[in-house]
Order: sequence, then C-alpha cells, then structure tokens
Amino acid sequence: SRTEIHNFAAGPSPLPTSVLEEAARGLLNYGNTGMGVCELSHRGKEFKGIIEGAEGESVGVSHSTRREANLRKLLNIPSSYAVLFAQGGGTTQFSSVVLNVLAARRLQHRSDSEYTPPVLDYVVTGSWSSKAYSEAQPATTKPSSFTTLPKRDEYSFTKDAGLVYYCENETINGIEFPLDQSSPYAFPFDLVPENVPLVADYSSSFLSRPIPNLERHAIIYAGAQKNLGPSGVTVVIVRKDLLVDTAEAMKLGGVPVVPIQNEYKILADNGSLYNTPPTFPIYVSALVLEHLLSRGGLDGLRDINGEKARLLYETLDAAERDGKVRCVVREKEARSWMNVTFETVGEGKEKAFLDGAEARGFRQLKGHRSVGGIRASLYNAVTIDSVRALCEWIKAF
Ligand code: PMP
Repeated sequence: SRTEIHNFAAGPSPLPTSVLEEAARGLLNYGNTGMGVCELSHRGKEFKGIIEGAEGESVGVSHSTRREANLRKLLNIPSSYAVLFAQGGGTTQFSSVVLNVLAARRLQHRSDSEYTPPVLDYVVTGSWSSKAYSEAQPATTKPSSFTTLPKRDEYSFTKDAGLVYYCENETINGIEFPLDQSSPYAFPFDLVPENVPLVADYSSSFLSRPIPNLERHAIIYAGAQKNLGPSGVTVVIVRKDLLVDTAEAMKLGGVPVVPIQNEYKILADNGSLYNTPPTFPIYVSALVLEHLLSRGGLDGLRDINGEKARLLYETLDAAERDGKVRCVVREKEARSWMNVTFETVGEGKEKAFLDGAEARGFRQLKGHRSVGGIRASLYNAVTIDSVRALCEWIKAF
C-alpha cells in the first residue's frame, strides 16, 4: 500500500494522499451529482464550479478562476501577468515561448520593411534547456554532460536578444539555480538587458518554494506533473504585453507560423477553455492548490524542502568520503533540492543499491535513462520521514 513505500519518482511523482482520496471520490461521483469528474462537460455548471469556485463565490476578475486566484496568492503573481493553463506539456512551451515572443516583437517593429529576426539567448545547463535550445536553433551540438552552473562572469547576453531563456531546475541532471541571490551561481537577473524578455522553465521546481524575481520574467511555465497534479496541464504565467494576435504578426512576415494552440492570447481570451481542456488534471491540480494554501503556502514548503535536500546531500557527502557513492553535481550551490543525482562507486554496486532499496520499499530511484545513475526526487509530497529512511539505507549500504 501507499504507506509501505517511499516513492521518489522524478515525475509524474507523488501527490498528497488526502488530495488523491478526494479525487478518487470525485472520479466516481463528483459533488454528489451521480457523475464522475471525467464525465462532466467542460462547459457545464459542475465543471465550472471546479474551476471558478463554489457558486456565488467571486474572485473579482473576469475569467479569473479559483485555481487561478489560488495560484496568484501562492506565488504573489501581479495583475500585469496572465495565468494560463495550456496543453501539450512543457515540451510544447519550448516552441510556444519563442513563437509568442517573436510575434510580439514583430508587432513592435510593424513598420520595419527590412525586419530581421533577433538572436535568442539560451542558458544551457542541462538536458531540458538543451532540448529547448535545439528546438529554437536546429543546428546545435549536444553537450554530453552537465554537472554544474555557470558563474556570474561566464554569462554574456546579447544586447537586443529576442529572449533570454533558462531552466530553473534541470530534472535529469539535478542542477538548480540557488535561492540565495548572493551566491555566484545565482541566476544573474541584473545582467539580462532590461528590454529583453526573460523566459524560465520552472517545470520541476514549481511550487516547491517562492520564485525569486518573478516580476523580472516575461514568461514562466511549468508542467503540472511534479508538485501540482497529474500530467496533462501546463501553467504559463505570461506578462500581458505578450498576449498578441499572432495572425497579425504573420501577415507582416518575418516570423514563423504559429499554430492556434500555441498562441497565448487565444488561451487568455478564452479563460484557458479554447478547446476541451484536460479536465481531470485540472480538477486534481485545483485540489492541490487548495491543499497547499490550507497548509500555509510556499514559505513553509521552502523550509521543509530545503531541510529534506540538506539531509540527503549531507548523508551522500559522508558516504562519498567513505568511498561508497559520488554526487553528480560537484558544486554544492548548484545542487537541486528537487532531484538529487548520485552514483555508486564500484562494479555491480548500483544494482546492489537499487535491489536493496526496492526490498526496503524505496521506489523509482533509477536515474534518467539518458544519464544513468541514481536519482531521488524530493517533491512536495515526499515526506521528510521518507528522506530520513533513504538516508538510513545509504548509511547502511
Ligand atoms: N522541462 C523540464 C524541467 C522537465 O522536467 C520536463 C519533463 N519532466 C520538461 C520540460 C518536459 O515536459 P513534458 O514532458 O511535460 O513535455
């Protein structure tokens, strides 16, 4: 049963048990309607209740829904940003961010008959930013491994770039920008030219702690399947000046074709209900947002997630000194709180570690297939007791 195992999956990953129990009830009989949540029209009053809140409850802004209001509260998102719920996962955002930013820029240069598309600056720190970069610039070579972050003095941004893009937490490699803004490895917000849209992939650290300098970003996006809910819905927090009519930009020329599903304005104008949305993931993520708010929000989560990561890295560093394991990310300040990557030392040891882990109730610890090794993901629903239990196994190994 759930209580007997410790699930360290990198995503889809564990969700709060109380939320899943409520979702299980809703799956069969939502709000005593006799209908399951996956059997409700996305335009009917019952589903409207899920996304807009209880009947009569007002959140003030048109198209503003309860899940949106809750997310705004949790992350302090100002009204100059739209909050969208998109489909197609994080991967679809690799192109969406570029297409919308380029369309907005083209409209700003409406009368320029010699318009040339801008340079796009990517900070490539791991597998996911590498994929996003490849999608934007087809001719790239794939770096073989990522084990640290650049330092402040290693960045050089293009003055008039179309965008600056980074991935806050590299899920596969276990690299994350430190929260401490005085660290030399912190993301150098002040070095990004002021007029250049800053885009961040927050897929695997979303809602694990507050977002530093949220208002310095033009777009922040995150797939749901780590801390928010089941896969199938992606949150996009986008500055409202980027909600542009991409068809108009296409008519001017000099921008790529934008499929309608990639246009942020369409989603915004339709309250994220342009077409049939993934209703069940939306339902569960609405429950998770309520759960997070009722538990006091992101400051408490930052403290507990920081402590979980500290415990595990401390145990791994000690085991490393004993010659048993090796942390993949050498620079401590670049280590992810959410995805802890390490390797065992010695022939046949990895299998022994994983077999022993499995026997002790630890699940989904195998590293991503592209890099191997071991990865323990410590998302919000992974308890500190699960982390302590894993530390005991590392010590005993
Ligand atoms: N970015 C990051 C940081 C990810 O971890 C992932 C996948 N988990 C993606 C992008 C791609 O997301 P998806 O699988 O939802 O397309």
